[in-house]
Amino acid sequence: MILVLENSITQEQKNRILSILREGGCIVRQMSDAGQCVIGATGNAGHDPGFFQQLPGVAKVVPISTSFKLVSRQMHPEDTVVDVGDVAVGGERIVVIAGPCAVESREQALTIAREVRRYGAVLFRGGAFKPRSSPYSFQGLGEEGLKILAEVREQVGLRVVTEITSPAQADMMMKYVDVVQVGARNMQNFELLKCLGRLGKPVVLKRGLSATIEEWLMSAEYILSEGNDNVILCERGIRTFEPYTRNTLDLSAIPVIKQLTHLPVIIDPSHATGIREKVSPMARAAIAAGADGLMIEVHHDPDRALSDGAQSLYPKQFGQLMRNIYVIAPVVGKQLDFGYLDKASAVNHLGKTKGGGSKNAAFLGEIGTFSHKACTQYFGKKITAVPMSSFRAIFEAIKNGETKFGVVPLENSLAGSIHENYDLLLEYDLRIIGEITLRIVHNLIGHPGAKIEAIKRVFSHPQVFQQCRQFLDRHQEWEMVSAKDTATAVKRIKEAGSPTDAAIAGKEAANIHGMEVIEEGIETNPRNYTRFVIIGAQQLENGPRHKSSLIYSTGNRPGALYETLKVFADQGINLVKLESRPIPGKPWEYMFYVDLEADIESDSFKPILSALEENTDYLRILGSY
Ligand code: PEP
Ligand code: MN
Repeated sequence: MILVLENSITQEQKNRILSILREGGCIVRQMSDAGQCVIGATGNAGHDPGFFQQLPGVAKVVPISTSFKLVSRQMHPEDTVVDVGDVAVGGERIVVIAGPCAVESREQALTIAREVRRYGAVLFRGGAFKPRSSPYSFQGLGEEGLKILAEVREQVGLRVVTEITSPAQADMMMKYVDVVQVGARNMQNFELLKCLGRLGKPVVLKRGLSATIEEWLMSAEYILSEGNDNVILCERGIRTFEPYTRNTLDLSAIPVIKQLTHLPVIIDPSHATGIREKVSPMARAAIAAGADGLMIEVHHDPDRALSDGAQSLYPKQFGQLMRNIYVIAPVVGKQLDFGYLDKASAVNHLGKTKGGGSKNAAFLGEIGTFSHKACTQYFGKKITAVPMSSFRAIFEAIKNGETKFGVVPLENSLAGSIHENYDLLLEYDLRIIGEITLRIVHNLIGHPGAKIEAIKRVFSHPQVFQQCRQFLDRHQEWEMVSAKDTATAVKRIKEAGSPTDAAIAGKEAANIHGMEVIEEGIETNPRNYTRFVIIGAQQLENGPRHKSSLIYSTGNRPGALYETLKVFADQGINLVKLESRPIPGKPWEYMFYVDLEADIESDSFKPILSALEENTDYLRILGSY
């Protein structure tokens, strides 16, 4: 049962409700949902829902109809994010766990860990206790294997995941590893589940070989009911009549799970297919279907692997898969972040040097805009996003040290460059420290239950109306009202309270303001992407650097621009953007804005920089990132 509380409830009233529930023998959780205070209670409360409905301070009582309670979406409408060190499983950044089936030796584990980290994995996997079908197969190195995993964490900087097969291993797990995995064969080992509930470490709970989704969620319920909410569900294929693959990957479990529970879900295509060539296609499909992450077996010498070599990717194949995931993720509103761990440690480092107060990033507009989404997707929860009223205000705030970073859009794939920000980059002495691309999906948003036929007025940013022209042309009778940004549009229709008003915005804005999507994806061209850059006063230490942005001007003589481009061509550097902007106060003279695929500030590029200096009148490096 869920009790939605009135905003005006007193602490005394709340305490009374909590003690009635607890005395009745309920497990009680306090939560907040879209700004409203909610109590979730499971077990026999000793009273019927009508009794609670009439208690002072209770706005609404919602019975939970499913057999699983604590894991249900009803109990906890927001997604749960499981933190493993700097890694957040269940957020908007895809989490990839990779490593061998089993830890075989120190060298083997360290070699593979270095490879998978290089390609973007953020957690390392490796079994030390292997539950094998045959008692004569390799059973794992036991505690020795756990010690190797701990060494991997120290040396490679990846937190580690390993399987527990008995409650007797609990102390060792506490000592050596970060995430404990319950294997498919143990999904219904209830003593083990209860033990992990008490252990409190994050758990990867694999789906049993023949378990229904409901049975799987009931197993998760065992862990949560013992007080551990940090459960990551892992679909790894189920037994069917089909022999061509080791198991049958149930991809439909992803949307089903997303609806039924708030827990994150990852996919293990390695055990699901059992065949190396089948792993990457299924991994790509899993991300497209909305999985929060992947668990992939990788081995540098799979022919000699002591277990599951046939399904292990070579490191290079894993790298290729990661590149594909990087491209797919933004299509479904997520990111694969190759700089995830480096970025996190750079940001942690900032806190230590600047006394903590500086971990802010400014963005334009309100919470719930695409700029806000870019900000939270880039930094995760490490940084507080601060709304600002203009692009210039963002640049000023960084210059004055009021915020550490800013997130500003630089170009849209349909509308082109946002010139104001190009000009501000020239004017202010700041650096580009990173970039992020978002797919921009616009939705028609209205009050809960609102029907499209009833809409009379639509609020949004004028540019958004442009991007949704085809859809809006079908509704000529609507009045368009321009708003400062998309999230403000949603806020305004909420405040006006009329079911005949709608807004066009991202679905995050609808969620934040308790509004509903009436029609999804109404932008004319679905290939609508915006590239944002992250700006700061200084480069992130140890941050990733694959790309550089420069501004320069050349003399007014034949071949001047060509001379600069030749420098890049001669060195085989790929130019990904070249744009000219007028120089303020100098009619018909131009600055060139250039993006390159290279870390132009690294030592190896020093000669190139000097060659460039010789051929330019003005040269500024905006940043390498
Ligand atoms: C494993 O992850 O190596 C493993 C044994 O998985 P499962 O329990 O899914 O078979
Ligand atoms: Mn395996």
